[in-house]
Amino acid sequence: MIYNVAQLMKAPVGTSLEYDISEDELQLDEDIQVIGPLFGHVRLRRTNQGLLVDGWVDLTLELSCNRCLKEFEQPMHITFSEQFYPTVDVVSGLPLPPFDKEEIFPIDAHHLVDLTEAVRQNVLLALPMVTVCREDCQGLCPQCGHDLNLGPCECKPEVDTRFSILEKLLQNGSESQ
Ligand SMILES: [Zn+2]
Ligand SMILES: [Zn+2]
Repeated sequence: MIYNVAQLMKAPVGTSLEYDISEDELQLDEDIQVIGPLFGHVRLRRTNQGLLVDGWVDLTLELSCNRCLKEFEQPMHITFSEQFYPTVDVVSGLPLPPFDKEEIFPIDAHHLVDLTEAVRQNVLLALPMVTVCREDCQGLCPQCGHDLNLGPCECKPEVDTRFSILEKLLQNGSESQ
């Protein structure tokens, strides 16, 4: 996901280039495991100060379930729209003063744009706070650790009477549906 934008940086504002993205594998982050290939599309458009880079990628992450702790594959569709500013002048090759805005990515001294960091940040933003392998995952028994998706365990639930009554009410409620 590296693009040479030397020609684009010399082009008039509004000029754009588009590319299909296809990567066999991608290392995004120590904590984010990308499985298999990644596909997408990117458009790089010349702006006054640099480039507006937008597009999307489809990728599959390996996540672990917060309830049953199993690893599972989560397909994701990530869209991004980011500003890239040059670090050297494309004509003179002289270094430009550093930009002090945070949400801006650098075009490096060789006029290369690397999308990896922008994609990584957008993947992190898109990750849910709680990841579950499926909506109705039953999780593990808090007493014996048995995976309740495989069936009930022998443990007796530790509930006090108030909760038992509530549980009966809930059970009756669901049976009558
Ligand atoms: Zn689960
Ligand atoms: Zn148990």
